[in-house]
This record gives sequence, structure tokens and C-alpha cells, in this order.
Amino acid sequence: MEMNKREQAVERLMECGIKPSLQRVEIMNYLMTHFTHPTVDEVYRSLCPSIKTLSRTTVYNTLRLFSEHHAALMITIDDHHVCYDGDTHPHVHFFCRHCGRVFDFMDEPAPMLTGQRNIQGNIIDEMQLYYKGICAECMEEQQQHMAG
Ligand SMILES: [Zn+2]
Ligand SMILES: [Zn+2]
Repeated sequence: MEMNKREQAVERLMECGIKPSLQRVEIMNYLMTHFTHPTVDEVYRSLCPSIKTLSRTTVYNTLRLFSEHHAALMITIDDHHVCYDGDTHPHVHFFCRHCGRVFDFMDEPAPMLTGQRNIQGNIIDEMQLYYKGICAECMEEQQQHMAG
């Protein structure tokens, strides 16, 4: 199972034209097994105990590289925290203004892009749809607060 996931990470990198160095494979593997939209710091803190030579700058640069090559999505929904997503299938992201978490809305229609799109001579190679508001958990908390 463990091996299989790493192989998938290597495959994703190769498909996207990225040389699969050890650290890149570990970072890709992390993204493809943690669909929590981690930030650079979260990825760094999770991986640094097992990869002693890893630096925060390497994680930062590697995640940028992944997004440039469409191996991962860079999510800029929260202006304070850029986060990353190993799920590159089109899906809507929802940002809770209260708790700051980013959720996936898989059932909402998301913009689909196959290859590149040309809109009046402008070449589109990425589309993302962001929703913002208050999540169900935070709504419930607020209502309990008001009732009590
Ligand atoms: Zn919330
Ligand atoms: Zn997502």
C-alpha cells in the first residue's frame, strides 16, 4: 500500500514533467494522501521529522513548482494562507471566514478545463471556483452561543 502510493506520486510527477527527486516524491505523496489543503508550514512540519535534510524553502519552492506544472493546485482563497491540493480534479473550494478552514464541495458544478481554452485570444490553462462564508460547524456553534 505504502509503496503503491509512492509509485503514484512518482507517476504524477513524471506525467507533469517534473524530475522525481526523493524530496519531491515525499511532498507529492503527502499531498496525495492528505486532502486537507495543507499550507507550506503544515507540509514542512509533517515531513521534517522523517526527512532530516528538508528545509522550509525547499517545501515552498517544491509546492510552487507542482502548481506551475499542474501537479497540484495552489489555492489562494484565504489571503493570509496559501494552501495546496493534491486533488487536481475540478472541484469547488469553500473557505470558512470564521475558522479559516478550506473545504471541498465535490457535488457543486466546477469549471472544467480539458487542455487549454482560448477565450477571445486569451489562453486559459487553469480555472478555480471559490466560495466563501460560514461553515456548518461554525454556524451551529454560533447558534448554540446565541441560545445559551
Ligand atoms: Zn468554520
Ligand atoms: Zn480541494
